[in-house]
Amino acid sequence: MQIQAAVLRETTGTLSVEEIEIAPPGWGEVLVRIAASGLCHTDWETMHGQQPCVLPAVIGHEGAGVVEAIGPGVTLVAPGDHVALSWSPNCGRCFYCDRGQPILCEVARAANAAGTMLDGTTRFSAGGRPIHYYSLVSSHAERTIVPEQAAIPIRPDFPLDRAALLGCAVMTGYGGAVHAGRVRPEDAVVVIGCGAVGLSAIQGARIAGAWPIVAVDVNPLKLGWAERLGATHTVNARDRDPVTVVRDLTRGRGADVAIEAAGQNVTIRQTLEASRPGGRVVILGKTAVGQDVTLPFTSLMGEREIVRTSYGMSRPRQDFPKLADLAMRGELLLDDMITMRLPLADINRGFGELQAGNVARAVIVFDG
Ligand SMILES: [Zn+2]
Ligand SMILES: [Zn+2]
Repeated sequence: MQIQAAVLRETTGTLSVEEIEIAPPGWGEVLVRIAASGLCHTDWETMHGQQPCVLPAVIGHEGAGVVEAIGPGVTLVAPGDHVALSWSPNCGRCFYCDRGQPILCEVARAANAAGTMLDGTTRFSAGGRPIHYYSLVSSHAERTIVPEQAAIPIRPDFPLDRAALLGCAVMTGYGGAVHAGRVRPEDAVVVIGCGAVGLSAIQGARIAGAWPIVAVDVNPLKLGWAERLGATHTVNARDRDPVTVVRDLTRGRGADVAIEAAGQNVTIRQTLEASRPGGRVVILGKTAVGQDVTLPFTSLMGEREIVRTSYGMSRPRQDFPKLADLAMRGELLLDDMITMRLPLADINRGFGELQAGNVARAVIVFDG
């Protein structure tokens, strides 16, 4: 079958939207017609060579759609199911799956590094040449094939553009606050970096009952979104020192839970310094591969728990349906996070807007 897809051929920052071939789903795999695919900053980093990727590849790892066909052996989903895609499908048998840490699945990580499906091959090609996978999802395409474990069924009344966000930003940020940060009612929380992940962490903190929730960024637009989604205080770090503001709000102690979602040395340092002794630090952002992070040792003094997580310590099969319920109850505000919708043909413009800081989330929507 021929499909339109955004292919990364070189790490020059530009995707090529082209017709490619997609093979039928193999054993344990499903064909998903993509309805929406979010533009994540990790995609942008990959397009610029800051994160590893086997080229050429169909990128995109934050998608949702409808199952169109299933391969042999599939039992977890059926044609017609609405699904949000997880970029961390788990084999169920490896060291980590056995320990109840499915997002660290060794089989999935090996496939991810190779740019393939779980069996080491790909389902995309163009002109007879293979095109690789990205995060086992490759959602910037009209259709994709994923392992059945990556297609998480969600309630059919939940809009698919919002469902796409569950696949990366929302799970990472909400899980960062609720699972990794273990935010409790009345906890003082600071979130440094108010992109889609940070905004989701703010929502997680609000839903968990935190107060205050201090949002920090250098972009007034993002601070406005943070306020709408649950921040009780906002700090533009160009104007004020966020560490001082957090200490002033917490009798000089610092935040119970400090969450980093910007991926810079300075923000990682600020997050540590804004946490209280005995508090918890959650690092969700990531720097470019190979970049060092330096910290003054005093920022570690006393006692602190530092947690680094890529996917909010999630268990997507349990968490995605719960997040959909939270959104349908009006507690998790996802529509407010989608500030731009655009067709696949305009994907490069969407990434430009993302990098310029003009969008909370831009989502590619497909006509079907
Ligand atoms: Zn992402
Ligand atoms: Zn596994």
